[in-house]
Amino acid sequence: MQASNNENPRTHCLVCGFDFQEIILPEDDCPCCGMHMGFYWENCHKSSFIEARQEWIEDRNAQWDVGEMQPADWSVDKAWAQVRANVPKKFQ
Ligand SMILES: [Zn+2]
Repeated sequence: MQASNNENPRTHCLVCGFDFQEIILPEDDCPCCGMHMGFYWENCHKSSFIEARQEWIEDRNAQWDVGEMQPADWSVDKAWAQVRANVPKKFQ
């Protein structure tokens, strides 16, 4: 499968703002919000990101998908702060 974000590689999850610290591949899963990155590229409608983010933060209390990577002092407020800091405005 062709990566659909080749022209605009990203290092941050567009749903939760997690910093992968390397170019994200479509087959990656986000360790923070748990989203499969292949579904969440530039060509997705903004509402897809908003819905996925709300589900993660409101329904799952912003718990990390990979629990051992979750900071000890993690909170819903920190999740929102990460989104605001790292997700481009057009996907917020
Ligand atoms: Zn994420």
